[in-house]
Amino acid sequence: MALIVQKYGGTSVADCRHIENVAERVIAGKRQGDNVVVVLSAMSGETNRLIDLAEQIHTRPDPRELDVLLSTGEQVTISLMAMALKKRGFGARSFLGSQITIETDTAHGKARIMNIATEELKKTITRGHIPVIAGFQGITPEGDITTLGRGGSDTTAVAVATALDADVCEIYTDVDGIYTTDPNICPSARKIDRISYEEMMEMASLGAKVLEIRSVEYAMRYEIPLHVRSSFTDSLGSYVVKEDEIMEQTLVSGVPYSTNEARITISKVPDRPGIATKIFSPISEANIVVDMIIQNTRASDLTDMTFTVSQADYEQAMEIVKGVASEIGAERVAGDPDIAKVSIVGVGMRNHSGVASKMFDILAGHGINILMISTSEIKISCIIQRKYTELAVRALHEGFGLSDQ
Ligand code: ADP
Ligand code: ASP
Ligand code: MG
Repeated sequence: MALIVQKYGGTSVADCRHIENVAERVIAGKRQGDNVVVVLSAMSGETNRLIDLAEQIHTRPDPRELDVLLSTGEQVTISLMAMALKKRGFGARSFLGSQITIETDTAHGKARIMNIATEELKKTITRGHIPVIAGFQGITPEGDITTLGRGGSDTTAVAVATALDADVCEIYTDVDGIYTTDPNICPSARKIDRISYEEMMEMASLGAKVLEIRSVEYAMRYEIPLHVRSSFTDSLGSYVVKEDEIMEQTLVSGVPYSTNEARITISKVPDRPGIATKIFSPISEANIVVDMIIQNTRASDLTDMTFTVSQADYEQAMEIVKGVASEIGAERVAGDPDIAKVSIVGVGMRNHSGVASKMFDILAGHGINILMISTSEIKISCIIQRKYTELAVRALHEGFGLSDQ
């Protein structure tokens, strides 16, 4: 008897009809003799709707109260799902993060799971019942509700799978697997049958929102196999597994992109020790993640510092940096919220040279200017103007031969 954690995303529980369909799917798993644990997102669009409500009250809502509000989306779906399962004669019990408990740190809006108590879940499973867990939420040791960041139900699912030592974690979504790039913007995107944790982690961190990055991080650390598949068909999806379980190594496996980027430049900063920490400490204290950083030394004893943050953090980061800039005597702070990041990812890059120059060549061939570049062992990312995102993704997908295999 296998233990399967099944996570259903927003489109899979978009309304009562979809919830009834998912209930059938869960029951089919039970009938096969498996134990099933369900993790749910809010109905699609609901988290955005709640954010919008909060922003009608305040442009930057209080983080604690925002989490109280956002966590309600998942409360709706888990209760309806438990009702749908019970209606079909199956024992089921809904659980909020606070009822399990899923303990997190206190970083509202991007909390990290510290611990999952499994006692109640195990009792429910032993009774033959189906736990239906609210994704995306937790509770601090002080009793405050937290949320894990957008797409966080994936993370809840993998963390629950880890805590319960499940055999597999299935992520049900609106596409039938992980593709070489977002199939919704590139019609020639191909489904990948098996992808390594490392590659998927890069893909997720670079914008492929089909899986939330922390979920892949957990799955890799605890070697939980992930199966990403559609809740609308029965066909197999894509497996995320260890690298040595994949026979074929491709040079470039995927072309993720992110339009959730913004760029900040501080010009003519004094070039002396301690300046970088003066700029970036208050940013990290505000829990803002800085992605790329470039420092250009000028001929004199001045330097320019450019870095990127997510769109959501842009205004706050600008405010902080403007404060620091006057303190350290920098000349100017400029911001650009209309950028995007396009990347190529592939473990095959480790042993090949010339991949970066080919990428630059492809972008140049389409008249796309590169604003910033960053590389790691298995990825290359370029910041470009946002209006070129789709063109760049399609060109790279084509140029690296992903369209025609
Ligand atoms: P859910 O609500 O089920 O969690 P998401 O919207 O978070 O679904 O993730 C699924 C979406 O991810 C797809 O509809 C697709 O547009 C997008 N996506 C981006 N990159 C990829 C990729 N490489 N493969 C598959 N889907 C991708
Ligand atoms: N409901 C949350 C969101 O929309 C979490 C999730 O769906 O994974 O981001
Ligand atoms: Mg998602």
